[in-house]
Amino acid sequence: MAERIEIIRCLQDNYAFLIHDAARGEATLIDAPEAGPILRALDASGAKLARVLITHHHADHVDGLAEILVRHPCPVFGNAADAHRLPPLDHAISPGEKLIDGTCEVFDAPGHTIGHVAFHFPALKALFSADSLMTHGCGRLFEGSAQQMFDTIARFAALPDDTQIYSGHDYAKANLDFAARFAPDAQALEARQAELPRLAAEGLPTTGTTLASERNLNPYLRAHLPEVARAAGLPGASALEVFAEIRNQKDNA
Ligand SMILES: [Zn+2]
Repeated sequence: MAERIEIIRCLQDNYAFLIHDAARGEATLIDAPEAGPILRALDASGAKLARVLITHHHADHVDGLAEILVRHPCPVFGNAADAHRLPPLDHAISPGEKLIDGTCEVFDAPGHTIGHVAFHFPALKALFSADSLMTHGCGRLFEGSAQQMFDTIARFAALPDDTQIYSGHDYAKANLDFAARFAPDAQALEARQAELPRLAAEGLPTTGTTLASERNLNPYLRAHLPEVARAAGLPGASALEVFAEIRNQKDNA
């Protein structure tokens, strides 16, 4: 594989991502929370920034963009439906579209915001889901409905088990503590509870878990299971009702 994913920590708990294409000597940036760490990563690798893909309009995903573009002018891609509140776009894209010679699929991912999109790179087995599906959790419903986030996550659930999920924040510890209430796979929970402190001690990222691992731990991918419905206090309820209840309990946790 000529491509490599570099995870860049920004701000308090954000992640940005560089997909390095060694064959072309270029890189694709996913989100721009903060210029400094991203510029340093570009300097260190010597890569030419080929493009920036934006997942959604929140400040902690776009605030570093202008400064990055001064040093690395390149086209910016974002959802056409949100063009009015995103930084100026060179390519207003739409869910279902394919980018970068067909190597990247744009997924509609509303729920956290209405215009949120995710970027799937099938050959890299990587989904950049930002604040939709997150490590052991999902994003807060600022604009969308539980139904929208439920449908978003159902679309991701159809991806292959070995797909790595790159979310926009390091909320893994808090999300895992919460997920433990909803009958996760006991062995997977124990393993991850042991792993997270090690990652934290070494300053390693918590994002990039596989969909298979999330299916064992993430309550939003497990809302259809009877034991999860019982744990949520809604035995016999639909997967959507259980999903909405879990999200509601997290908001009030
Ligand atoms: Zn956000």
